[in-house]
Amino acid sequence: MLIIYNLLELRTALNNIKLKEKQVGLVPTMGALHQGHISLIKRAISECDAVVVSIFVNPLQFAPHEDLAQYPRNVEADCQLCEKLGVKIVFAPSVEEIGVTGDTETQTNTTTVIPPESMTSGLCGKYRPGHFIGVATIVTKLLNIVQPDRAYFGQKDAQQLAIIRRLVIDFNLPVNIVGCQIVREESGLALSSRNQYLTPEEKTQATILHRSLQQAAIAFRKGIKETASLIKTVKNQLATIPEVKMQYVELVDPATLQPLTIVEKTGLLAIAAHLGKTRLIDNIILRQPIVAIDGPAGAGKSTVTRRVAKELGLLYLDTGAMYRAVTWLVMNSQIVVDDESAVAKIVKGVKIDLIPGNTPHLPVEVYINQQEVTQAIRTPEVTANVSAISAQAAVRKELVQAQQNYGVEGGIIAEGRDIGTNVFPDAELKIFLTASPQERAKRRLSDLQNQGYKDINLKQLEQEIIERDNKDSNRAIAPLKKADDAIEIITDRLSIEEVINKIKELYSNL
Ligand code: AMP
Repeated sequence: MLIIYNLLELRTALNNIKLKEKQVGLVPTMGALHQGHISLIKRAISECDAVVVSIFVNPLQFAPHEDLAQYPRNVEADCQLCEKLGVKIVFAPSVEEIGVTGDTETQTNTTTVIPPESMTSGLCGKYRPGHFIGVATIVTKLLNIVQPDRAYFGQKDAQQLAIIRRLVIDFNLPVNIVGCQIVREESGLALSSRNQYLTPEEKTQATILHRSLQQAAIAFRKGIKETASLIKTVKNQLATIPEVKMQYVELVDPATLQPLTIVEKTGLLAIAAHLGKTRLIDNIILRQPIVAIDGPAGAGKSTVTRRVAKELGLLYLDTGAMYRAVTWLVMNSQIVVDDESAVAKIVKGVKIDLIPGNTPHLPVEVYINQQEVTQAIRTPEVTANVSAISAQAAVRKELVQAQQNYGVEGGIIAEGRDIGTNVFPDAELKIFLTASPQERAKRRLSDLQNQGYKDINLKQLEQEIIERDNKDSNRAIAPLKKADDAIEIITDRLSIEEVINKIKELYSNL
């Protein structure tokens, strides 16, 4: 790993990486790294060839009365951590090297980037004038310096994330902004470098922030959509710990940050509060839940998912149909299926629509680039090629992005092998549906016998299932993995009905 302090050296190192057509990921931080930062770094490493972590405590985003001087700094430990994680470059410039002068009040001495007033006048912007000008300015500089393919930011700073997404659109910056879910302590407290300022007692008191947001989320899922009522729920909860002095509770559109009076589909509910001398922020996205069902082949995932979708009124996000649709498109474009660069070109920006259908056999209608392909993607030719297509990194990347776009508003259920770990790591309900290889072999035997096959060896089926599990768990792309927070359901002694009822019950208790 390289630790670089100056721009020239950074440019040389990056040029070498880019010459090799490597994808570069940037994780901008102010250091004092914790598990929240680590989650961003790990995600970047899993999606990019080379990851740059910047460590820069940005004076432009601090007001003169704020904690710039005390802000925790520990570059040496941060570098060791980055090295262990597999980061390629830590970029830790000085204020002079990066060329910033001033703070939120004196930043007029430098060229600044001013986000739209409508996005900075509420939430933290109201209490930290100039803060988001400082953030937007330094992020623009870092994006220009590193020119990454992807840059990673935490949902913890939701206003910052929305402003950066807007900045990248408005300045036509060629970078993908990746938002990462909030990492919390077991107590629910969102991790933050500033938590170091809290006493043990304050740390316990601070958990009220998350608890109050959760109360509102429960109310929302029970059908309460009015902002006034949801905010009141949060405020009542916060008031139970008088040491926590609320600064604001707001409910806004997550992308535009405009205040909502009613949450139609999705809303960002955000809090700032003081506890002693420490200012804390936290937030939650209100939306209909996402249900992620993962598990090995033959555990009954697809039957269960279709039925649960219908009974709970969720959209069945048929990820398999999406891979089939791309396979169909490739085959219809006279491209050789394993010509990865031609496939990558055709899949870039592809538009796939899944529209709820009426029959249990085909629960969604499938469109690719506006063409209806619901039946066409079920032919044996498509089936024969779909695994070769879905193993290609470019296809995977594009379709995971498309699936995540479906997830923005929630209200969906999806099944696969990495839905809860990779596609929707923030799903409200994660199920790991499994059964013993013996049981799955028995089910498969009975399916095959019903289709008229005879003389099948049960032991051999069982062996095949064990081998397939092994392959699925160890493959490089999208391996089968149980998410830490997934609920395991072993279906050996359960009927489909019982499994469905179990999932419905878990959903209603969210
Ligand atoms: P900071 O060092 O505080 O500027 O944070 C650097 C990046 O890490 C920002 O994109 C933050 O949103 C993100 N981050 C900080 N805390 C967390 C957390 N608890 N969970 C997820 N991301 C976080």
